[in-house]
Amino acid sequence: MVSRVIPVEPFDLIIFGGTGDLARRKILPALFRRYCSGQMPESSRVIGAARSEMDDAAYRDFIREALVEFGKSQADNAEAIEGFLAHLHYVPVDAKGEGGWSALKDLLRDDENVVRAYYFSVGPSLFADLAGQVRNRGLSNRDTRIVVEKPFGHDLESARALNEELAQYFHEDQIYRIDHYLGKETVQNLMAVRFGNMLFEPLWNAQYVDHIQITVAETVGVGGRGSYYDKSGAMRDMVQNHLMQLLCLIAMEPPARFEADAVRDEKLKVIRALDPVDPDQIVRGQYTSDGEMPSYREDAENPTSKTESFIALKCYVSNWRWANTPFYLRTGKRLSSRASEIAVVFKETPHSIFGIDSGRHRNVLSIRLQPNEGMTLGVTIKEPGPGGMRLVDVPLDMSFAEALGPEAEEVTDAYERLIMDVIRGNQTLFMRGDEVEAAWSWTDPLIEGWERRGDSPKPYDAGSAGPDDAAFLINRDGRRWRGIKS
Ligand code: NAD
Repeated sequence: MVSRVIPVEPFDLIIFGGTGDLARRKILPALFRRYCSGQMPESSRVIGAARSEMDDAAYRDFIREALVEFGKSQADNAEAIEGFLAHLHYVPVDAKGEGGWSALKDLLRDDENVVRAYYFSVGPSLFADLAGQVRNRGLSNRDTRIVVEKPFGHDLESARALNEELAQYFHEDQIYRIDHYLGKETVQNLMAVRFGNMLFEPLWNAQYVDHIQITVAETVGVGGRGSYYDKSGAMRDMVQNHLMQLLCLIAMEPPARFEADAVRDEKLKVIRALDPVDPDQIVRGQYTSDGEMPSYREDAENPTSKTESFIALKCYVSNWRWANTPFYLRTGKRLSSRASEIAVVFKETPHSIFGIDSGRHRNVLSIRLQPNEGMTLGVTIKEPGPGGMRLVDVPLDMSFAEALGPEAEEVTDAYERLIMDVIRGNQTLFMRGDEVEAAWSWTDPLIEGWERRGDSPKPYDAGSAGPDDAAFLINRDGRRWRGIKS
């Protein structure tokens, strides 16, 4: 397969936090791969801006190492690395002070044909400072874009305050709130499958769908960022943003066009249609030590922590399409496998002509986010061989790497697509301010509820599928979790 590279305008991309972990592991390797694909115009520049004192040469040395480590198939392409590094510059800047701003201004090109984008890859406490600095120091125009990393707020109040602060300096159409799950190839394919085929959409409703499962399971613990994580937990860190965005794409009505506001309007309606969740439909967990690796409380350096490293919940989207269809969400750390999947489980046929011996069968559309991005449709067929009509479920499998060739591996990185969307001015895969606030409006009362009751998360073994209660949550409805082993 030959991938089609859509040209973008020349750009100046300024990465605040250009020496940080995210810049090293994701943002710069993503830009490098776009460079290798020929998508980075010759006159484009990437300007790292952070607190450390260094010059262009030192920054290029620093990023060279990152590209060798995280550049995937281009990691040993020394010529390409040097070519890309020639586009890099560095300015020491203090987000809260005076230092560096005039040097940055001198470096930027005042040319309306050059897109200017600022990536805020710094801690959230600096987002508003940076927006103010960029605006007040005359470093932006009406076309300038800012990219804001997660977390976007800690609750509704802080998210609203941040939206208001950013709105003082930038219009909504200049603000790109990133959720890298939306940039994943499979997530976009979910929309292609739903809205590009006649096959699925007529069945995509409460009449034919039994339930939906969304799982994001990680094997890693909270490790080095334990004390930060302890202030948020799985609900804030994963459900409020990533899992809810996936739920929205599954549950939304077809937008009139694949355009930013048309898509985001439909996602917002889904979030607003979410029912509150009863406490007995939520299971929170915390991993224990397996003897070798530390427990959650040790990682978090908080021996009495009540923060969850695992959560499973059942919720409903109260509208005509989804009335009484359960959505089971589950995410956690230190689980038995690293697996992210959305599963649309269809109902059984209304009557089995093959008799009770043929068993119970349900079609499942499984959308895998990791590992091996791809989709599988489970269909029921006759078990081969003589001896009557026995039925068996087999997968119709579509692994992108297999179907589209090895290049598919290379185009899947979410940051590559999302950064290029920023340059193109396409906000479809970015969250709008009202969406983020609506998501917090749903999660806040749930969090307040368990905090008020003083609920403790259930301990679970590292390397398991989470607390037993998470299995009961779905088993008592006559269903079971898919995917990860207990
Ligand atoms: P980090 O601590 O590794 O890097 C922070 C960067 O900000 C450094 O370059 C530092 O020099 C710069 N910085 C700090 N204070 C500054 C100041 N006053 N003025 C100018 N620059 C300053 O953090 P990170 O892991 O790269 O994360 C950056 C952002 O991205 C955070 O909001 C984080 O929540 C988000 N994020 C990170 C990841 C990840 O995998 N690392 C994933 C998703 C989201």
